[in-house]
Amino acid sequence: LLLVKADMTTHIFAVANQKGGVGKTTTAINLAAGLVKMGQRVLLIDSDPQGNATMGSGIEKASLKLSLYQVILGLVPISEVIVKSPTGGYDILPCNRELAAAETELVEEQGREGFLRKAIEPVKDHYDFILIDCAPALSLLPINGLSCANGVIVPMQCEYFALEGLSDLINTIKQVRTHFNHHLKIVGLLRVMFDTRTTLQQQVSEQLEAHFGDKVFQTVIPRNVRLAESPSHGMPCINYDAASKGSQAYLAFAQEMILRIKGPDYLAEKE
Ligand code: ADP
Ligand code: MG
Repeated sequence: LLLVKADMTTHIFAVANQKGGVGKTTTAINLAAGLVKMGQRVLLIDSDPQGNATMGSGIEKASLKLSLYQVILGLVPISEVIVKSPTGGYDILPCNRELAAAETELVEEQGREGFLRKAIEPVKDHYDFILIDCAPALSLLPINGLSCANGVIVPMQCEYFALEGLSDLINTIKQVRTHFNHHLKIVGLLRVMFDTRTTLQQQVSEQLEAHFGDKVFQTVIPRNVRLAESPSHGMPCINYDAASKGSQAYLAFAQEMILRIKGPDYLAEKE
């Protein structure tokens, strides 16, 4: 395993795709846990009212007294809501279904796309990475995520309509870049739940590479039952079964991502 050398930047990445069930939460929690293993200080923000990242990090969403909901509305300082994931080792800003109300409550507000950005400002410098697990939509909550991110990681399954869905997401990213956040870029597309035996998946995968070139991460996350099991134990797979194919793939992905955004000088062998 490699360690990441420190620099002064906080990388804020949204894990986004407007489709549900495409591996956003799995990617967010395992990338967070992988980065912790590489010596990084990580905050994971669960911005999907389904609260799957919260549960998958070992935190009971039903018993939350405070959550991202109060933070995004400016009712409570973020530092009072962040907790440490007992199973992931990263900090997490949890949420539950209460957050869904924020979509309607913020809609009338001036600067409604920038509430999350404002909310994280006080703690931003405490972290090397802030990862935002977005809801499966292109609505106000995900737009808040995109508005405060420097980069977007897009997990996707190599299915027939995958490319079509991607163009809606890319258009939204362009709009956010134009109107709210000039720094926003796509870090990369991550192929997940991949089954090498399926011809269609191979074909779509090749189309993706042809179309998006090096925006497609080389690491491919296989379909792996351990990845599917670990959330029911409230654990990132990386800490549930480190030897599994899924965990190994997410660790390789974390390293590829560091190489992509920081370059090889920032990776060092653990002593
Ligand atoms: P999203 O956050 O985009 O809705 P999830 O990460 O929750 O997607 O994944 C959807 C479902 O697929 C979950 O039950 C998850 O455990 C499972 N899953 C995700 N990635 C994999 C994988 N690589 N192999 C097997 N199951 C997976
Ligand atoms: Mg999810």
